Amino acid sequence: MQKLNLKDKNLYYIGGIVRDELLGLPEKQADIDVTYVGSAIEFCKNLGIGEIVQINDAFGTVRMKINDEYVDFASTRKEIYDKKGHLPTVTEIGCSLKEDVLRRDFTVNALAKSLYDDEIVDYTGGIQDLKDKKLRILHDGSFIDDPTRIIRGLKFSVRFGFELEEKTKILQEKYLENVNRDMCYKRLKQELEDAFNLNRQEVLDKFVEQKIYKLISDKNYANTEINTENLIKKYEVETPWLVYLGNFDLENFDLTSREQKIISDYKMLTEYSGEDMFELYKKFRQVSKESVLLYAIYVDYDFAVNYLEKLSEIKLEITGDDLITLGYKPNENFSKCFDFILREKFKNHKLTKDDELKIAKNFFNKL
Ligand code: ATP
Repeated sequence: MQKLNLKDKNLYYIGGIVRDELLGLPEKQADIDVTYVGSAIEFCKNLGIGEIVQINDAFGTVRMKINDEYVDFASTRKEIYDKKGHLPTVTEIGCSLKEDVLRRDFTVNALAKSLYDDEIVDYTGGIQDLKDKKLRILHDGSFIDDPTRIIRGLKFSVRFGFELEEKTKILQEKYLENVNRDMCYKRLKQELEDAFNLNRQEVLDKFVEQKIYKLISDKNYANTEINTENLIKKYEVETPWLVYLGNFDLENFDLTSREQKIISDYKMLTEYSGEDMFELYKKFRQVSKESVLLYAIYVDYDFAVNYLEKLSEIKLEITGDDLITLGYKPNENFSKCFDFILREKFKNHKLTKDDELKIAKNFFNKL
């Protein structure tokens, strides 16, 4: 990896980019993370190439566009979590590289690689942990400072097939027994989205087995028998993470209106207690695939899958124009007629347009 043609003794690739290279993973098209020992803002202002896209003075970070690639430059910095679970406060910008890496989440994400001479700098034993496939936090208070690291650990463990190192595991368990709910839900939501959008059943399995859901709920959850990963692969949805988490307590999260609708539609489906499956089918027609999949997983797999496979294909062949051609005047009976035909089609999907016209005539004759 030598993505940037910049030689400076104070510049280091940092975090995921170094980890992935050492793991032999193909380079991602993701943004490049670089740390500058000193003030990245000053460095970037004097760089003379590329353009500054954004500066964050409080965190000493700069986003630049160089040769059509985005590069995130961060000043080395020290932080404290004066309000646990929330964004940290920066106490020093321009500290040593060692101090900078010590604020990070896992040893495998605390590796740096010099842009000057390609040397890998490993202050925390990250290389050994990469070899051992271990995720190790950097200090005992790490999860208390920032519980989103538990979700990050879940994501990395599934992505790379890593395990939590023994002490990290114990500290995670301890934290989950006594969660501080006063936390930054925006970041937690982002990490949950990233982890569950991997669409791997293992993420849910670990989330339940390790009781990671305690981060969002006091309730106990059991895992379901249904394989969510396969369902999502088969029926392709826009918001996979919500198919995994839609049955959990999400009220603290700032959901988008689409996400809220997925959940409220799913609840609406679960509350249907009538016997008439046609009425339930009509409700299915109004909701997104995510809500249907949630229903499949937690309420009635067979009905929901039958809906996705067959019932969702049912369409009426006739239109209002056909009814007008038959001599009927448009009024509220048109929609009643369509509903009546749809009910017949629900029982017998094979009805043709001629059949539908006959049913329509019958309907109007009986009025
Ligand atoms: P990827 O982008 O491949 O998922 P990444 O490690 O680059 O992995 P980012 O979320 O981009 O992930 O974070 C970049 C780096 O910032 C991490 O490697 C880690 O060093 C640090 N970092 C990110 N989030 C945290 C956190 N919550 N606590 C401490 N350090 C963090």
